[in-house]
Amino acid sequence: MARYAQPDLEEPFAEFLHKRLGKWQPDLVVPVGSPAGRFVAKFRNQLFPQTPIVYTGMDRRTLPPDAFANNATFVGEDFKLAGLVEDILQLAPDTNHIVVILGATPLERYWTAAFRDAFEPFADRVRFTWVNDLSFDQMQELVSKLPPHSFVLLGLLLRDASGVTHNEDDALQRLHAVANAPINGLYQNQVGLGIVGGHLYQGELEGQEAARVAIRILRGEPISNFPPKIIGTLGPRYDWRELQRWNISENRLPPGSTIEFRQRSIWRKYLGWIVGGLTMICLQSVMIALMFVQRRYRQRIQADLRRNQDALAHITRTTTLNGLASSIAHEVNQPLTAILCNAQAAQNFLADESFKIEDVREILQDIITDDRRAGEVISRLRAMVKKEDITFRSIDVLDVIRETVLLVNSDAVLRNVRVSVDVGATLPHARGDKVQLQQVVLNLLVNAFEAMKDVPVEEREVLIRTEVDDAGMVHIAIKDCGVGLTSDSLEKVFQPFHTTKYNGLGIGLSISRSIIEAHGGRLWAENNSPKGATFHFTVPVNGQTA
Ligand code: ADP
Repeated sequence: MARYAQPDLEEPFAEFLHKRLGKWQPDLVVPVGSPAGRFVAKFRNQLFPQTPIVYTGMDRRTLPPDAFANNATFVGEDFKLAGLVEDILQLAPDTNHIVVILGATPLERYWTAAFRDAFEPFADRVRFTWVNDLSFDQMQELVSKLPPHSFVLLGLLLRDASGVTHNEDDALQRLHAVANAPINGLYQNQVGLGIVGGHLYQGELEGQEAARVAIRILRGEPISNFPPKIIGTLGPRYDWRELQRWNISENRLPPGSTIEFRQRSIWRKYLGWIVGGLTMICLQSVMIALMFVQRRYRQRIQADLRRNQDALAHITRTTTLNGLASSIAHEVNQPLTAILCNAQAAQNFLADESFKIEDVREILQDIITDDRRAGEVISRLRAMVKKEDITFRSIDVLDVIRETVLLVNSDAVLRNVRVSVDVGATLPHARGDKVQLQQVVLNLLVNAFEAMKDVPVEEREVLIRTEVDDAGMVHIAIKDCGVGLTSDSLEKVFQPFHTTKYNGLGIGLSISRSIIEAHGGRLWAENNSPKGATFHFTVPVNGQTA
């Protein structure tokens, strides 16, 4: 009716319906919107005098006062027009210009008059522009060039002055696209289509409510059960994006306002993730820091431990050498005695006038040889006693063995022990500290000698074997024919302070094992059959990682 009917066409339209209704009477009539409502009220007696009527989707003021008198009810609004301006001034108190969009139909003109009346009290503050006589294009042009402090109020747009009819929601969106000022409307469903918001009417609820009433009437309830019902506004409602766009502070909104379409900032949107991530990073940083502290602490402890071990190794070494002191003294004494004898013999030769220079030369050569022998014993001893930093370098393991055997040579002689070295295939150089490896061999040899002190003299034999094992390590085995080890002491002997000797310290083997392990090798013991024990150790070949 609003779009197509002209006042002069109402009569023929009523006539058409009259003819049509002659064959078919409805059970219920539901006029939606003011134009339809006014048409039904006007022609009711002619068309459907007894049919119940539910007027909806309109303001009751647009109907005649007696419209509900006869078998009719109403579910609609009661627009508080002044409230529309109050809402605008609440949002933007400095607004001094409002463009009111209302179209050109009689209904829209009716409303224009009502709006004008209702807005009269604001005339001293606000200038109103009415657009009933403009085409939609002109309206768009107008709202795109508004001066500051303007607002647009979309009242109703059914048909513009150029005769083009409009869908109000589309029209709103098109106005929103070009307007340089905020827009407000009347209905809740417009929030999200471009209006800022305020106290808005609930068109949707009105429709639902009217449908409920209609169904109950069709089921037989009398219309008197349904007194006219006004659906008011709900709590004020706003579009967050429009508030942002027009820089309207949320502080300006009345208490209890609902804000829709709030777009959370990236920060707020991902707050959980960000906080979680930061917490993780912090925790990880703390853990990394703790690990660094722990690592440095461990390195310090390891360095201390190494220093202590070296010191201990040195002490054990000198203690072992102490035990060898008398035999070493004996070994040094021998060449010294020989030197003395040779020197005296030389003196005697010189006293005899017929001496031969050749004899004296020979004697002097012997003296030099003996002196070297004594010197070598001393320098070997000094190398073992000196406290030097550990240095891993390429070493010939056979040298290590030979020098150590020479060092214990006199002890072996005193104890009647034969020491032999069985060299397998050519041995590659190993990587290690010479003095420390000598200490290990020395310790194993001295232990082997002591283990044989009670076995018959002819059986006292130590065999040193060298080879490269399956893993490519240099392998040294020192085999004796002594008392051997009980099965449970095979491992126990490597524990510190385990000793079976009256004056033993019980740390030689434990130190030896830590030395070998620091080299990346292994030290272990086995029993021989039928008697004695074999101690094995391995060290990596130079250039090979253990
Ligand atoms: P200590 O020689 O001061 O006792 P060690 O750690 O060198 O300390 O040796 C620990 C113990 O291991 C010795 O007391 C001995 O009982 C046993 N042991 C070491 N070597 C042998 C061996 N070749 N035969 C039998 N027992 C041995």
